[in-house]
Amino acid sequence: MGKKGLLLCVCQGTCPSFHKMNIFEVLNTFRREKAVDFVAIHPQLCADDGDAFLKELLKDADVDKLYVAGCDPTMQKKMFKDAFEAVGFDKEKHVGVDIRNMSTEEAVSAIKEALELMK
Ligand code: SF4
Repeated sequence: MGKKGLLLCVCQGTCPSFHKMNIFEVLNTFRREKAVDFVAIHPQLCADDGDAFLKELLKDADVDKLYVAGCDPTMQKKMFKDAFEAVGFDKEKHVGVDIRNMSTEEAVSAIKEALELMK
C-alpha cells in the first residue's frame, strides 16, 4: 500500500498567518499518533526550490496521499501542478488543508478532518 505524507508549508515562517501555531507541535501530533508515514516542513513550496523538493519527493515514490497544510487548497493546486505533472504524480492524491491564522489545536483539527474525510 502507498504511503501517506504530511507537509507543512509556512510562507518562509515570516507570514503572520502561521505565527499563532507551533508548527513543530502540529507535526509532532501526527508523528506521535502515527497518522501518516512521513512528515516534513518546507518554508516555501511555491518557490523554485519547493518545486524541486516536490519532484524529488514524489518521483518514483509510492505515495497514495500527500497532505499539504498551508495556504488555500485551490492556490496549492495551481502552484504545485507543474511539479506533479513533471513526475507523473496524480494531482488527485494531493490534499490541501488551509491552516492559516489557526492555533496549534485548530491546525491539528483541520488536518485531522482532512485525513478522516479522505480515508
Ligand atoms: S505554497 Fe502556500 S503556504 Fe507555501 S509558501 Fe506558497 S503561499 Fe505560502
